[in-house]
Amino acid sequence: MKVPFFSPTLVNAEHSQALQDAFSRVLHSNQLILGAEVQAFEEAFARYIGTKYCVGVSNGLDALVLSLKACGIGPGDEVIVPAHTYTATWMAVVLAGATPVGADCMSPRYDLDEGTIGAVVTAKTKAIIPVHLYGEPQPKAVITELAQYFNLTVIEDNAQAIGATITGQKTGSFGIANAHSFYPTKTLGALGDAGAITTNDEELYQTLKMLRSYGAPRKNQHDIIGHNCRLDELQAAFLNIKLKGLDTDNTERKRLAAIYNKLLADIDTLGFYCPTHHVYEDYSSVYHLYVIRSPHRDALAHYLAEQGVETQIHYPTPPHLQKAFAYLGYKMGDFPIAEQYADTVLSLPLYPGMPDEWVVYTANCIRQYYGLAKV
Ligand SMILES: *Cc1c(COP(=O)(O)O)cnc(C)c1O
Repeated sequence: MKVPFFSPTLVNAEHSQALQDAFSRVLHSNQLILGAEVQAFEEAFARYIGTKYCVGVSNGLDALVLSLKACGIGPGDEVIVPAHTYTATWMAVVLAGATPVGADCMSPRYDLDEGTIGAVVTAKTKAIIPVHLYGEPQPKAVITELAQYFNLTVIEDNAQAIGATITGQKTGSFGIANAHSFYPTKTLGALGDAGAITTNDEELYQTLKMLRSYGAPRKNQHDIIGHNCRLDELQAAFLNIKLKGLDTDNTERKRLAAIYNKLLADIDTLGFYCPTHHVYEDYSSVYHLYVIRSPHRDALAHYLAEQGVETQIHYPTPPHLQKAFAYLGYKMGDFPIAEQYADTVLSLPLYPGMPDEWVVYTANCIRQYYGLAKV
């Protein structure tokens, strides 16, 4: 059996005709930039997340950069970022002109906590970017009370968690401005690059709209130095279709994750970790990724590959050990938990449209690796 790690064809299969109709609509619309599709998507996405405003942008990285800039964060400012995250979270801070300051996770989850944040706050710290990694919401105490206690601007990196909730409230609605990615593998995937920012602040909303399009509040008037990072009409048209199916897609992700949880529950090898452990009550993960941890990660991944199961590692090198961030002066050992995660995490295939048999087969291969009977 061959189990692909991700399949855009399977994920988009049920929307195939609607997506083709959307393409046709845009083709004949005579409005290819910032038209009716973008506006409709922004309204629908703000409603979905539960914020007053949404600004569609080119991708998740730009969503983070613009959010930071709109909040007035720049040179001389420090921004707290998780040590265990995708490089975009750190790079956005640098692109905004500020300095990323890493904070380690609290084992066994991927949460920031009081201790890790308190240890790195300085007089220059202006903001924090909690990342709802793998689709699991960060603790509410961190993104609300703790940030408030340290007087930090909160910008959520919701790239991996669109649809996740904390006591019924969607992630991406807690911070002052929040970044979303519609990269094709994310829970709300476009057919290319796209992103958005959600906010309840009218002034930020106006600034963000200027920042995404040449600093212009209207045509031929340029009030600030802006970017060109608009959301395409075409991607917005696709996203209008995909957004309608998001809750169904996320329910499917949770159903497939539950199969993994059940079939992997009795693996009690020391250091083996399954996302079923340490789930918070009233927190709902959308399983952008189904990530296990194993001290035998590389051997396990190799075994799975031999059985036809593709896996990935998110992420094998933490940002603080990447060459791009060497100038910050971090070294191996600075974030021991994040470094341990980098050595042990393994993402298993999980996406809407993936047949149940592939999940069962993958789980059974892992059971077999650990000498357990197939189920
Ligand atoms: C995907 C992702 C981003 C960036 O999104 P792009 O659309 O790829 O630019 C940012 N942060 C995290 C945690 C991500 O997973």
